Amino acid sequence: MTNTTIADLVVDIGQNRSYPIRYIQDTPKILQELIADHEQRKAKLAVITDINLELAYPAIFENILENLPTFALSPGEPAKSVQRIGQIWDFLASIHLDRKGTLLAFGGGVIGDLGGFAAATYLRGINYYQIPTTLLAMVDSSIGGKTGINIEAGKNLVGAFYHPEEVLIDTTLLKTLPAREFSAGMAEVIKYGLLADEKLFQQLEDLDRLHPEHPELPAVIRRCCEIKAQIVKEDERENSTEGGRALLNLGHTYGHAIEQVAGYGSYLHGEAIAIGLYAAAEMSERKGWIQKDDIQRIEKLLLRYDLPVRLNFELPANDLLEAMKRDKKVRQGTIRFVAMKNIGETFTTHEIEPEIVAYCLNAIGAN
Ligand code: ADP
Ligand code: ZN
Repeated sequence: MTNTTIADLVVDIGQNRSYPIRYIQDTPKILQELIADHEQRKAKLAVITDINLELAYPAIFENILENLPTFALSPGEPAKSVQRIGQIWDFLASIHLDRKGTLLAFGGGVIGDLGGFAAATYLRGINYYQIPTTLLAMVDSSIGGKTGINIEAGKNLVGAFYHPEEVLIDTTLLKTLPAREFSAGMAEVIKYGLLADEKLFQQLEDLDRLHPEHPELPAVIRRCCEIKAQIVKEDERENSTEGGRALLNLGHTYGHAIEQVAGYGSYLHGEAIAIGLYAAAEMSERKGWIQKDDIQRIEKLLLRYDLPVRLNFELPANDLLEAMKRDKKVRQGTIRFVAMKNIGETFTTHEIEPEIVAYCLNAIGAN
């Protein structure tokens, strides 16, 4: 365990709206301060979390948050539903949370997306805090204000851009995270190195395998947040036609298709993204942008975290292709991909020939 303090970061989205990402080491103490502050202002605080977190952190829920109204969901992606968001609205109304009130979203990406969307919509918007508890949420979903739920037609099709008051990151909370979830989060960490920071990628290669108590983990997480915050600053609402927020989708065009065709639940999001990153590497090499050596480096790093680079079971290439075409990013029938020029340098392109896409799908084991 490291005791070095990690400096705060700011998500700079303009005056009055910018907010900090704070790196904390003592969640109970920070929660007590928040509670005291709200008591003093006679403002209500409510918590949204999931049952696994209640089980993992009895001391927090029974001693610190015991008097706060708490809504604990069953874990997993199905919680991001119309039905659940309705229950959360009803819950907030039943405790008479008013405009001065605040919602704490304590959990992984699912809780963050759902809590953020509840905060965005209840009373047309109340304050909320993100307290991410998975590696994936710490480096990715808690930052940038994307909130939302899934509907029949697809994932995250309903939502809002709505930023929290603060993001509070306590990496000691990762100690209870299942190893498989930690590895899945590492896929997004590796993604940041690939998309914007060759040094970060090299650092990940040089470090032995990161784990929740590794002394370098907090700094690595902060660097990922910094990259994300910079991209969000430049393209808050993903309006850029080139580059911008879309770069964060490196590996995701293939990855989302894999998740969809394999059926949600077969792969964790980060696992599908690992295969997607590998496919994006093959694609970028095929186009003559990165080298064969680079593919090997990427594969080696993903494998170090026990992440898959090929499908665990065969999926039809055609179904994957159809799923990619249904993606939001299709323009005039051509799929937008994020490609690597080098490790650490990416760009968006519509210029990938169907034969190359077919080659990549084949390379990951589709047929
Ligand atoms: P993601 O951030 O990957 O979207 P989820 O919100 O779906 O993740 O959380 C993944 C799983 O990990 C869920 O089952 C959740 O209950 C569990 N979980 C989240 N954070 C922790 C933690 N710190 N300790 C133990 N389990 C956790
Ligand atoms: Zn992702």
